[in-house]
Amino acid sequence: MQRVYMDHSATTPVDPEVLQAMLPYFSERYGSASSLHTHGREGRDAVEDARRKVSSLIGAKEEEIFFTSGGTESNNLAIIGTARKKRKGRIITSSIEHPSVLEPCRYLEREGFEIIRLGVDKYGMIDPSEIENSITKDTILITVMHANNEIGTIEDIREIGEIASNKNIPFHTDAVQSFGKIPIDVEDTNIDMLSISSHKIYGPKGVGAIYIREGTDLDPIIFGGGHEKGIRSGTENVPGIVGLGKACEIAKMRMKKDTKMLEKMRDILIDGISKNIPESYLNGHPRKRLPNNVNFRFSGVLGESLVKALDKHGISASVASACSSGNPDASHVLLAIGLDMEEARSSIRLTIGRENNKKDIKYVLDILPRIIEELRLTSPSWNKGCW
Ligand SMILES: *Cc1c(COP(=O)(O)O)cnc(C)c1O
Repeated sequence: MQRVYMDHSATTPVDPEVLQAMLPYFSERYGSASSLHTHGREGRDAVEDARRKVSSLIGAKEEEIFFTSGGTESNNLAIIGTARKKRKGRIITSSIEHPSVLEPCRYLEREGFEIIRLGVDKYGMIDPSEIENSITKDTILITVMHANNEIGTIEDIREIGEIASNKNIPFHTDAVQSFGKIPIDVEDTNIDMLSISSHKIYGPKGVGAIYIREGTDLDPIIFGGGHEKGIRSGTENVPGIVGLGKACEIAKMRMKKDTKMLEKMRDILIDGISKNIPESYLNGHPRKRLPNNVNFRFSGVLGESLVKALDKHGISASVASACSSGNPDASHVLLAIGLDMEEARSSIRLTIGRENNKKDIKYVLDILPRIIEELRLTSPSWNKGCW
């Protein structure tokens, strides 16, 4: 049976070149980046080389990049670190953020901060003017994701950055899904903090980074030996950081070509599904969309059952079920774009990646309509609708 992995927004395989770059740092080059001897210098040089590679992907200065354990920690650091520094105030965010943004905000709300969660339109777009209207003199942070992990919608971060910059409010963006996939320039977009994860771009898991513009005021959330200029203490994950650096180098080299190829496959998939499966509806923006994201709703089909059935045919897809919304079964993102519980539960996500090819797309387009037809035969809600 063919195996087709289409869950690249959850995680990606480590690129073989990335793995090769990492290996020496598990064996002969085991020095800690903080040590003064030769072993230490090897580690330090590798970390600094990776810092350059990360920074060059977003037009930042290398000293503005800090390594963390991943996207979750970077988001927590940006949000809680800013809040601790400012002690009180308002944070403006959206209702479709990743749990690693939603949850720190929820925690801060319990601690007395005011959290404004802005809604989105039916495509998942945040209206920048709503952000502007929510700004008060107490506002300490705007945090809005660059691209949504579930429906792939790309937000107008340039406009949001401009608003934030004009009002002198720090702007943080969770760029975990967009980083390495679409061009980002932190200068151009007035971004003050930006979260990065390695394992979404063919690097290893458990490592990430945050861009913090020079002069941005925030406290650390992890205290210790003062690594990463005191922003993030703890012995650096040298092999992981090397892997992230290599993944960035490769992403920079391949971005143009990869984007073109991914968009092509994405559009074949979207068109094929729309044409061949009745009552199928694309979730997310038709154009302002990640090059690798496909998210569909199929009336009368439970997303979870569909993902399980696809798995039996060798296809790895996913459903979004964010418990953070308070609805254990429905995605807070899909509810935010206006779907009801049942509609939200009948959606699945297919996210393509570098190692997918036209044959994979063809296979999915062959299997998917058949499975949906089968599932609908036994679906009470579908059969009710047909009467
Ligand atoms: C995966 C993801 C994260 C979390 O990153 P980790 O490195 O897995 O902690 C944060 N935000 C978005 C949008 C993501 O897709």
